[in-house]
Amino acid sequence: MRKNIVAGNWKMNNDTKETKSLLKDIRKGLKKVSLKNTKVIVAPSFVNLNTAVKVVGNSKIKVAAQNMCAAKSGAYTGEISADMLKSIEVRTVILGHSERRAYFGETDAVLKEKVASALNQKMKVIFCFGEELKNRKENTHFELVESQIKNVLFHLPETAWKKIVLAYEPVWAIGTGETASPEQAQEMHAFIRKIITDKFTAEIADNVSILYGGSVKPENAKEIFSKPDVDGGLIGGAALKAADFLAIIAAI
Ligand code: PEP
Repeated sequence: MRKNIVAGNWKMNNDTKETKSLLKDIRKGLKKVSLKNTKVIVAPSFVNLNTAVKVVGNSKIKVAAQNMCAAKSGAYTGEISADMLKSIEVRTVILGHSERRAYFGETDAVLKEKVASALNQKMKVIFCFGEELKNRKENTHFELVESQIKNVLFHLPETAWKKIVLAYEPVWAIGTGETASPEQAQEMHAFIRKIITDKFTAEIADNVSILYGGSVKPENAKEIFSKPDVDGGLIGGAALKAADFLAIIAAI
């Protein structure tokens, strides 16, 4: 059975003191929330991953990185490798976020390499993709999402899917306050499951968790998560406040 997941992408927010304080509050609040079949993940900046791992300790919270280098090691100034992440017990990485695509030139080709490298190095991957507003207006959003998934994931062996979580994040809904309607999210998630069924198997499609991301808040989380193919959320802004993040987790 696929898992529900609520993951907080902190982006370039929170210094070390703030990281500690937010995580302590989340950890404390989680004691009052039933986490049946639900995983909680937080993705602080690289600088604070080590601190985050220590603060979450043996609680139910897992720590993920927001990016990693495809190369294993060597002359890649400013980059972080899978081995470095694993050496501090970080075993999950977010790849393909629209901000990395838009501001740091991460194309499907780059992401294909990064995802393959992460999986080869025994990391779990939260793979993000999603259309821009112009695609939705032109009604090319299904085509675009299909190509993003196909270009990066379709060459992988079936066994790789155990280590992959998908995050559908329509770019027009990220950080804008505008959310896809629960019906729009469901429609796209069902489409994603169908293309995975067609290329791989129904079992793989059924077992992969597909998260929705884009202005999820305590007020809209329950309705979005109630859709049968929405298995949780990748949360940006609302993951920076313990009370909001906890309310979103409780909504699942
Ligand atoms: C994100 O950046 O992945 C995201 C979903 O952000 P927000 O929740 O702020 O829209």
